[in-house]
Amino acid sequence: MKRKITIFGATGSIGQNTIDLIRRAPDDYDVVALTGGRNIAQLASDAKALRAEIAVTAYDDCLADLKQALAGTGIEAASGEQALEDAATRPADWIMSAIVGAAGLKPGLCALEQGSTLALANKESLVTAGPLLMETARRNSATVLPVDSEHSAVFQALVGEDIAAVERIIITASGGAFRDWPLEKLSKATLAQASNHPNWDMGQRITIDSASMFNKSLELIETKEFFGVTPDQIETVIHPESLIHALVGFRDGALMAHIGPPDMRHAIGFALHWPDRKHLPVERLDLARIGALTFRAPEDARYPALRLARNVMETGGLSGAAFNAAKERALDGFIAGEIGFLQMAQVVDATLDKLFAEQSLINNEISLDNVLQTDHLARVRADEIIRAR
Ligand code: NDP
Repeated sequence: MKRKITIFGATGSIGQNTIDLIRRAPDDYDVVALTGGRNIAQLASDAKALRAEIAVTAYDDCLADLKQALAGTGIEAASGEQALEDAATRPADWIMSAIVGAAGLKPGLCALEQGSTLALANKESLVTAGPLLMETARRNSATVLPVDSEHSAVFQALVGEDIAAVERIIITASGGAFRDWPLEKLSKATLAQASNHPNWDMGQRITIDSASMFNKSLELIETKEFFGVTPDQIETVIHPESLIHALVGFRDGALMAHIGPPDMRHAIGFALHWPDRKHLPVERLDLARIGALTFRAPEDARYPALRLARNVMETGGLSGAAFNAAKERALDGFIAGEIGFLQMAQVVDATLDKLFAEQSLINNEISLDNVLQTDHLARVRADEIIRAR
């Protein structure tokens, strides 16, 4: 029987890798909904090729173009936040959550409320509202499968294991574009330099977040929320080759590493076929040719984002929502040329300080309303801090 599939963020890097896998086995899937943002040509072309029921753009001002591109095909076209949520409630067996940023939270929650299986690339959902997301999944007997390569690696290392036997989880980091730069040069890093990842081919935002290590910071919080471990059980190590994606250390001293090529189609394919394993079109590693794998500790001075993530994990509550929103605003500021590379972490730090001083981010319940309110407030404060510079 064909599986019904929906892809949120279909026009992005993860979305396109997902579509690549689906197109290799078209008889196995019925595509329900594809969603995108401003890349209407890609969205319409994929919707036609995959014969989707509906294509949704997040932006109302793109709807006319989408309708025109789909005219005569019988494929529905829709736009806006509500249309994204409606798309998530259309019955589907498997839904890819690959919108970038906090905008991915609501469609993901809607999908879980239907009891769907959610393949979660959108790490921001777990960072901003991890307890809410996981509780919604539990309440509706829905399944959340990790797609981030590190979390997929941990998930795979834990198959057949008892989480109680886990001593530590080690998340590897490539170190990003500036891992070998002299520290004093970092303040001069340009947008083009930060947008060039040494190992992975990803969307621009996550690539810049890799250079600043904000991506790894989000992943540390994601690890805590997804696997339910404590902050002191989570470690990170720089591994420039990006071949070991994560390691799980057990109480008997064993360390299980997941090793594979830096190709997101592995983690996406694992989630797509879970609990089976099927053939995937990814490179088979030649270990003798690779020769050596190297590791080093991350330097605090180079990666202040890691310290901020530790504070967020210790604080809990709504601090993840504030952290992510401040980071997104700071990233927009860097992309727009409002602030320099190093100032991103300073803006996030100052935003969190301000919010802590103003109100409690700790004890507020993690409801959708509170998360959205905190997200909004953190963006306003980060914006004020950026403008005051
Ligand atoms: P991209 O920027 O490549 O794609 C983002 C997708 O989201 C696009 O389809 C984009 O549409 C859409 N989008 C952008 N803004 C909005 C919005 N406000 N509302 C609805 N849709 C929107 O991102 P990636 O594919 O790189 O990343 C997606 C998610 O997966 C992120 O959370 C990222 O952290 C995570 N991830 C990515 C990895 C990777 O290898 N790329 C690895 C692990 C996790 P359009 O382009 O049409 O405007």
